Amino acid sequence: MADKFDVIVIGAGPGGYVSAIRAAQMGLKAAVVEKWISEDGKPVFGGTCLNVGCIPSKALLEASHKFVEAKHDFDDMGIQAGDVSMDVKKMMARKDTIVKNLTGGVAGLLKGNGVTAIQGTGKVVSSKQVEVTDQDGKTTTYDADNIVVAAGSVPVEIPPTPLKEGLVVDSTGALEFQETPKRLGVIGAGIIGLELGSVWSRLGSEVTVLEAMDDFLPMVDGAIAKETQKLLKKQGLDIRLGARVTGSEVKGEEVVVKYTDAKGEQEMTFDKLIVCVGRKPYTQGVIADGVGIETDERGFIHVDDQCRTSVPSVYAIGDCVRGPMLAHKASEEGVMVADIIAGHKAEMNYDAIPNVIYTFPEVAWVGLTEQEAKSKGIEVKTGSFPFAASGRAMANNATEGQAKIIADAETDRVLGMHIVGQHAGEMVAQGVIALEFGSSAEDLALTCYAHPTMSEAVHEAALAVEGHAIHMVNRKKKK
Ligand code: FAD
Ligand code: NAD
Repeated sequence: MADKFDVIVIGAGPGGYVSAIRAAQMGLKAAVVEKWISEDGKPVFGGTCLNVGCIPSKALLEASHKFVEAKHDFDDMGIQAGDVSMDVKKMMARKDTIVKNLTGGVAGLLKGNGVTAIQGTGKVVSSKQVEVTDQDGKTTTYDADNIVVAAGSVPVEIPPTPLKEGLVVDSTGALEFQETPKRLGVIGAGIIGLELGSVWSRLGSEVTVLEAMDDFLPMVDGAIAKETQKLLKKQGLDIRLGARVTGSEVKGEEVVVKYTDAKGEQEMTFDKLIVCVGRKPYTQGVIADGVGIETDERGFIHVDDQCRTSVPSVYAIGDCVRGPMLAHKASEEGVMVADIIAGHKAEMNYDAIPNVIYTFPEVAWVGLTEQEAKSKGIEVKTGSFPFAASGRAMANNATEGQAKIIADAETDRVLGMHIVGQHAGEMVAQGVIALEFGSSAEDLALTCYAHPTMSEAVHEAALAVEGHAIHMVNRKKKK
């Protein structure tokens, strides 16, 4: 007879492992089922985020950025670094070590918190039962008072560009190149396209990004998106908007991509092609027929604001449900459902989830753009401050970008914060806290910021909302 649990979580990504740990901390008997398995047959925890997502991509972004600094920027500071070169294999090995340490760390956290880790593929077979098939095909059914589905997502594939190992790859393949491709094509100017495109461009690839939409980063405030596009172009990323990919052909070691744009049909040849046109929920086969859990036509599990599915004892969180596909969103949902299962009140503020694109400089935002606020009929006032006017940015050799605050014209409440600049991902936490606490722009303006810091730009942007920035001449505000 298999063990019975208070809660079984399916999937040990940042949604699932966090949920299981929190449930155990709340005194529940918790288990997590994970199908990912290492080459030596051991379960691998951490999901997309730790294995093929957030962490490995940031390891490559950091290494490639340091390479650019050493090669091009050190000289400005008087540092003679000599002939700088990149050992791509070593960079990859470092990334692999970080992943191994972190995924092993999660195994330790699960154990240390008393969570039972079960290797195998989980399937919800009834409102209170999970069937697990292990690597040898053996099936065990576990009873649980509650089930949390945290099955995550996988890359979307498109018919014009079928994958071909090592040549036409998704984001996972693009984290594995063992040498810098000369001509790199990227389909999709979304977050992955810009991050991975940046990695390889910094290491010397000629990168062309083909984006079907006419707008660049439409989810980011218009002024910040425009500046980001300009900065990335200056770095050498050839971003072609309104370019819809229609086909591809592998010719030996090259791939020829066909696309249409305003001028008609175009063709380009690449040494490698990354297809990063979005991700889709990984829910096929996770729920047995007849359990009564509703999914939509794309496979997202239907949930309410507290991640309850249509079956009361079953919850679903993270990338396999609505909302942004972000690790921290998945984790927060994991904590929320564990608390609810443990009998506590819990909710999430979906309006205060930060987003970061880890290009250089970083792009980070939370809340509404000026354009969104206006389209909702909200009258806004805004304040912006350029890093070019920041003493710390000058000292850091990072004067590109700006911070922008969008506030309600009537109440002064902060509605959004959008930043492009070095460490924008750290600075945006101030916007998250402002939104969580319902702060006014004046609250930020009246706060004492340490000097010299990049965050002073946020302070100055808050002051600029009323035309009172100190370290730039304010534009006259319309009365
Ligand atoms: P996942 O991390 O996908 O985990 C799901 C887990 O469930 C997997 O381990 C899977 O094997 C397991 N599983 C699935 N089905 C079953 C089953 N039937 N039985 C057992 N186990 C199962 N987000 C950020 O916030 N910041 C970033 O910087 C960032 N960078 C990214 C970079 C890249 C290249 C990619 C691809 C993604 C990135 N993301 C980033 C997105 C982030 O990785 C995801 O939003 C996050 O991992 C979602 O967490 P999750 O727990 O919902 O799912
Ligand atoms: P995305 O949705 O961010 O971008 C995909 C882009 O591809 C879109 O701009 C879309 O218009 C374009 N596109 C779609 N079909 C196309 C076609 N046929 N031709 C040309 N362009 C086309 O998706 P992504 O970059 O693949 O990332 C997937 C998810 O992973 C995102 O939702 C993101 O939240 C998450 N992620 C987050 C981070 C981070 O937080 N830093 C990093 C990487 C990934």
